[in-house]
Amino acid sequence: MAHCDDNLFKAFEALKSIMCKISCYTNFVTINDKVVAFNSFKGGIVQLDEKTMKQVSQGHFSDLPNNVLDTLKEGGIIVEEGLNEKALCKYQHDLIKYRNRSCYFLVAVTYKCNLACPYCYEGAGKEKHQGHSTRDNAVQISKFIENVTLQSQGDKLKLIFYGGEPLINLQILGYILETLRDFSKQNLMEFDANVVTNGTLLTEEMIEDLKQKGLEGVYVSIDGPQQIHDKRRVSKKDGKGTYEEIMKNIGLLLRKKLTVELLVNVDKESSPYIPDLFDDLNKRGYSRLTLRLLLLKPATNIVKDYPHFILNQKEAEKVQMELNFRAVEKGFSIKPIQLGLEPKYVSCPYLTTSSYVIGPQGDLYKCWASLGNKEKMVGEIQEDGSLKVTPYYYEFMSKDPFTQNKCPNCKFLPLCGGGCPLLAEMQGGSLHTKMCSTLFLTDAIKVLIEQNERSK
Ligand code: SF4
Ligand code: SF4
Repeated sequence: MAHCDDNLFKAFEALKSIMCKISCYTNFVTINDKVVAFNSFKGGIVQLDEKTMKQVSQGHFSDLPNNVLDTLKEGGIIVEEGLNEKALCKYQHDLIKYRNRSCYFLVAVTYKCNLACPYCYEGAGKEKHQGHSTRDNAVQISKFIENVTLQSQGDKLKLIFYGGEPLINLQILGYILETLRDFSKQNLMEFDANVVTNGTLLTEEMIEDLKQKGLEGVYVSIDGPQQIHDKRRVSKKDGKGTYEEIMKNIGLLLRKKLTVELLVNVDKESSPYIPDLFDDLNKRGYSRLTLRLLLLKPATNIVKDYPHFILNQKEAEKVQMELNFRAVEKGFSIKPIQLGLEPKYVSCPYLTTSSYVIGPQGDLYKCWASLGNKEKMVGEIQEDGSLKVTPYYYEFMSKDPFTQNKCPNCKFLPLCGGGCPLLAEMQGGSLHTKMCSTLFLTDAIKVLIEQNERSK
């Protein structure tokens, strides 16, 4: 009897494997003479030998050993025959957009800054926008975040403090941080708070205080190795470079066991020198930092004034991948999401109903680069912490890759989500233009494989 059951089970398993197909989101690329299958819906990456590749491409799934079959299914490389993957992708997209329980807020507590960088959206030290949160603003902002989080039935609250230089408005930052940390605790939510800073104002006492109030990590911006950085990131007070000061403070943050992510601004002029920065970080023993390379995009009018800095999108993606590879070779880690290899289904983190960019006086946006630009305001926080939206809110939120030219049939849709809305508006003339961001996928996979090999 048991023998009969075994046979039945085997037959059933064989039938299940026959009833499979290659996912419409699977891409095959050749890296170092080996075929790699990558699925953009699940983010699965599987290296295939010649025999397996042949069996897969011919649809002979029942000939595959069970462990290989399981790996292919797990990575989403093959899926059930009857699955309507495009419907599933649309469902996943809508779920993330409208029912996202992970709530994400970028809070600019001031537009003031102590540096005068030439390309900054804040206006190269000229303080293009005025705004510095007061205690009343902080109360309203906190209330608003609580409201959105509760309405979204949030289970995770992620905060990023931003500026100008947010540490200039330390007390207000501390108030919002502590209030929302306590709110998350009371409501049993995961809490993750970080600050984006130029790293020049940090002190030991400040770090201790912010840590006590719930700060988890710090993103420090830098413009490259000292010879580049010190030409640009200069103090407003004395015009001097800030590289050494920042490096010293990174050491302080690491000693205090905060998560440190280095945001490296890269552009046409600086890109050849970025590997010198990796060497210097290694020399200082800072190799456990996570690096995020940010290619300067023509995203704001200020940047448009500096065309000699700007790489076009194709050049930028190429440079980004080359530098990511160099960084990994030198022992740094790059997150898959930075390589564009993590499915996000929705192209921009703010295309969800549970995420906002908040200006110092409770003005609301859907992109960090729109801060202070009244035309791009999506709403305003009211005195009681409620939200009043502008018509632009609906315009932004209606971006939908499933109605964009070419996107619905694109193999990369789950990864790309139809592209950055801001770039689409600035370069394509409309929010609803496609803005492909997967030009160097093979290179990105190469970086990830190299990173995985090195971490073994
Ligand atoms: S609109 Fe583009 S640049 Fe702005 S936050 Fe979204 S993805 Fe980023
Ligand atoms: S924008 Fe381009 S890469 Fe992105 S989903 Fe649309 S067609 Fe694909």
